[in-house]
Amino acid sequence: MAWQTGTVPEGDAVWNTAKRLHDALAGQVLTRSDFRVPRYATVNLTGQTVTEAVAHGKHLLIRTDRGITVHTHLKMEGYWRIQPADGGRPLGRSYQLRLVLGNSQWLAAGYLLGITEVLPTAREDRVTGHLGPDLLGPDWDAAAAVARLARKPDRPIGEALLDQRNLAGLGTVYMAETLFLRGVAPSRPVESVEDLEALVDLGHRLLDANKERPGHVTTGDARPGRETWVYGRAGRPCRRCGTVIRRGEAGPPGQERVRFWCPNCQR
Ligand SMILES: [Zn+2]
Repeated sequence: MAWQTGTVPEGDAVWNTAKRLHDALAGQVLTRSDFRVPRYATVNLTGQTVTEAVAHGKHLLIRTDRGITVHTHLKMEGYWRIQPADGGRPLGRSYQLRLVLGNSQWLAAGYLLGITEVLPTAREDRVTGHLGPDLLGPDWDAAAAVARLARKPDRPIGEALLDQRNLAGLGTVYMAETLFLRGVAPSRPVESVEDLEALVDLGHRLLDANKERPGHVTTGDARPGRETWVYGRAGRPCRRCGTVIRRGEAGPPGQERVRFWCPNCQR
């Protein structure tokens, strides 16, 4: 059940990971709890029942019946591996292991996680309170996301869409694809984009369509090399107009993120 995307995790991949963790852990008593992060090395959650595992944007929250939340974030390279409990040891590389949670049936092991921490469920706001509307959350609110985007009208739209304080869940793949499908260049200021609500709603639909499966398909064609319009296609012809797709990096200093676009289709 190991599953790595090979790219920075997008909201759909995190949602899917949360679902797999929920299926393996929820409703069951933890019989194994092993934190390999110095700060939480002495935390022991055995005996507690996991009530749910949820994604909030790109954050993963595993909650127990004693009001404890295990908060993790995949960041660049993190992943979870779920295996039958009778297999004994976690199968991944042990030096990359950050956390093991298990019950009588399943063992869930988190590797290379960018964040691993334990906090009271009542204080989750401390780690997710800054996030904008969750694209895959039950209460997704396009208008609220637009209102947040509009707070910085002169910011490039590509950068603004990646800012999880505006809306939570988009990464570089869906940013590039959403902007291509709406014909908007990533460098355009937010205020110049005609229909921001349609833009964020398209991002929501793309993530939603991909949440149940690995990979990110925005073209409707899941065959290798055909999944995206512009993402990962620098130097190759645009699928619509044949213009060479461009690649660049933009963003605040030190946080530059990759972007792909068609200079003809996106204005
Ligand atoms: Zn084009």
